[in-house]
Amino acid sequence: MKMSKMHIRTLREVPTEAEIASHILLLRSGMIKKLVSGVYGFMPLGWRTIRKIEDIIRQEMDAKGAQEIHMSAVQPAELWEESGRWSKYGPELWRLKDRNGRDFCLGPTHEEVFTDLIRNEISSYRQLPVNLYQIQTKYRDEARPRFGLIRSREFIMKDDYSFDKDEAGLDVSYKNMYDAYTNIFNRCGLKFRPVEADTGAIGGSNSHEFCALCETGESEIVYCDSCDMAATNERAEFKDAPASNEEMLPMEEVATPDCKTIEEVAGFLKVSADKTIKALLFNKYNDDGTKKEGYVIAFIRGDRELNPVKLVNALNIPEFAIEFADEKEIGAATGCVGGFTGPVGLKNCTVVVDSELVGARNMVAGANKEGYHVKNVNYERDYKGDIVTDLKMLRAGDPCPECGQPVKSARGIEVGQVFKLGTKYSESMGAVYKDENQQDKLIVMGCYGIGVTRTMAAIVEQNHDDNGIIWPVSVAPYHVVIVQVGANDEVQKKLAEELHDRFEAAGIEVILDDRDERPGVKFKDADLLGIPVRITVGRGAAEGKVEYRLRREGENHDMTADEAFESAVELINRERRG
Ligand code: ATP
Ligand code: MG
Repeated sequence: MKMSKMHIRTLREVPTEAEIASHILLLRSGMIKKLVSGVYGFMPLGWRTIRKIEDIIRQEMDAKGAQEIHMSAVQPAELWEESGRWSKYGPELWRLKDRNGRDFCLGPTHEEVFTDLIRNEISSYRQLPVNLYQIQTKYRDEARPRFGLIRSREFIMKDDYSFDKDEAGLDVSYKNMYDAYTNIFNRCGLKFRPVEADTGAIGGSNSHEFCALCETGESEIVYCDSCDMAATNERAEFKDAPASNEEMLPMEEVATPDCKTIEEVAGFLKVSADKTIKALLFNKYNDDGTKKEGYVIAFIRGDRELNPVKLVNALNIPEFAIEFADEKEIGAATGCVGGFTGPVGLKNCTVVVDSELVGARNMVAGANKEGYHVKNVNYERDYKGDIVTDLKMLRAGDPCPECGQPVKSARGIEVGQVFKLGTKYSESMGAVYKDENQQDKLIVMGCYGIGVTRTMAAIVEQNHDDNGIIWPVSVAPYHVVIVQVGANDEVQKKLAEELHDRFEAAGIEVILDDRDERPGVKFKDADLLGIPVRITVGRGAAEGKVEYRLRREGENHDMTADEAFESAVELINRERRG
């Protein structure tokens, strides 16, 4: 393909709203175009990469016996009411009405639609298992769309649903999908790690996230080098140390003027932060987030960090149904005092206590009185929680919940997630089959998602330098770019076109940059676009000489056109499958 005929519009400037490399480079290379916040279009080169990622996904899904279908993005509210998620999904669900006022949503995910399909079409154990997937546009009205394709409001997802007779069948389906995901992300050239994950709004029991490792990622994972523990920090369990055997001392109120933070209190009373109790105050809303229902006060050790996912799981409410409270309002209702809140003597609120505090002794806590704290506060004797559970983040250096060694942490981008749903949807929506004895049984489900567009961004995040993208061969929009230095030089033109035609005949995807531009512009664009092999046809053309350069190495090699052709074909064919 001749570049003079292609629709490629690269930008010299860094777009102001873009903060991270993938967003900047995908915009600058003209591969994506923003329409409105969180909504992007794909230009020819960008779309070719999307299609390559999709092809890899299709090949690996099909290899596991999954079958591709395509369902509508528009979904009727009735199905979501059946599953109970019409209210619970919250403001992220992109709702719309038809002209008659009937409610619909643009699908953020398709559990309801696939369960509905299966309950109508499967009746016997003979028809199971089934595994169906689609590659389709999804909609989520994200609170903060950002980082370009990483957190957008319209994006492409591959979603797959498995339907089995029993848990043993689900185990097999889950393992198949886990293996398929491993192959897919390997072939996309990603460095990634599958980790145990929270099941969130989707529901179900068991889940893994596939996390592409990079510093700019929004997910934090914790892992252990001494054993195989690896989990998102939202999910990672914190194993409490055994209870302290310190003797309980009598409670004692002490004046702590102006000491509102843990550091101030600990410093003033000369105790370490792990001898203090920290309070976090929240308003709680009903399940669709429209009505305030009450107050929640959570207590954790002063040196710990609250894990909000563990808190909402403990309260069994959606994430959006809780927000930090205004101190004055919550104080008037519950008796707490901002900066001096402690667990003793609160009223009208749900008190959630971190499990570690149960075995802690003689702690310092707020006195619920302006300017005062209490020393020697002990669980059971002095206060109790309505809920006692693990509420804290596992941080680098904390003991591994499996083996006790210090854990490590890393950041990454969640590119895929697999869930064991069990019977959550088949139960609420009545998806049953008749077993060998004509007994009705619930279908056992799993669901499996890959963010196709987010995967593209993650690949760029891991594969770039200051000059642009460095596509792995398997997902590169084109394999080779031939830069013809003199746009009007007949000898160069002839050699460049000959090479171009040879590549095409060999099934190599090639661009010929024949534009009437300065060489510097062409080289810059070639680097920005990230095409794996660049062949420069310049002055040496008369002797059949060219320069050969791999984008990932950045060094020019003088070769004959024949050698360059052979080297490129060999490299591309070796790496194109990923
Ligand atoms: P996150 O925690 O990042 O919001 P999620 O856990 O809600 O994502 P899933 O419901 O597991 O996402 O969706 C499956 C996949 O779809 C994710 O692994 C991710 O790759 C992709 N995805 C989810 N939300 C977005 C988004 N807003 N923009 C782009 N891709 C997304
Ligand atoms: Mg997820």
